[in-house]
Amino acid sequence: MRIKKHVLARNTSYSTPYYVVESDQAGPVVMITAGIHGNEIGSIHAAQRLIDQLQGKKLRLQAGTLVLVPIVNQQAYYRRIRGKPDLNRTFPKSRRGSASHPLSKALFRLAKRYKPTWVFDLHEANGYSNLNPSVLGQSFITNKGSKAIAAVQQVKQQLNGSISGQTRKFTIVRRHKQGTFRTAAAKLLHARSVTVETSWAMPLSHRVQYQTRIAKLFLRKAGIVLHES
Ligand SMILES: [Zn+2]
Repeated sequence: MRIKKHVLARNTSYSTPYYVVESDQAGPVVMITAGIHGNEIGSIHAAQRLIDQLQGKKLRLQAGTLVLVPIVNQQAYYRRIRGKPDLNRTFPKSRRGSASHPLSKALFRLAKRYKPTWVFDLHEANGYSNLNPSVLGQSFITNKGSKAIAAVQQVKQQLNGSISGQTRKFTIVRRHKQGTFRTAAAKLLHARSVTVETSWAMPLSHRVQYQTRIAKLFLRKAGIVLHES
């Protein structure tokens, strides 16, 4: 397994590290992003934990390639704000269109280069979607007609089976929001893409645990062979 650190949006005020983790065996390419919104700390910490575990050899990839961007919007993260403009409305909306922000441009170019079969974009949101369908906390979002849906249903079932009570159980939301990384990756790159949303209503340590566990469940569903020691 090889881990290479690179810089996205190099030589700009938006520069941020990303990692390419390659196993010795062929397998799918999976992309995980966090911090498209700078105040969604649970997802950012989980992405950082994943790279720490990989670098510390507590977690090994035995097949496939992982492209991981732990903090997309460093400036927003530093200020603990969502980001202005909302980066997740600036990704290309059509084949002829282009991203309207230097960061989304750089991230989309990276995705285009690696052609991931799967894209998991980690976020956080308000409330509990299982109690209130108008909020997104504890949900998985996919696009209508997405080929990711079978895997999302399986991960949801597996995860919810281990969650006691109704409050924190995950739901699946289907929406086609233009300008998001998920929709751009699904529509323009034909990736199976999923947005993961944990709830801000929970303590940070729980959110990080959920996000880390979900990322690993999805990596395995995607065909990335993981070994934990
Ligand atoms: Zn978000």
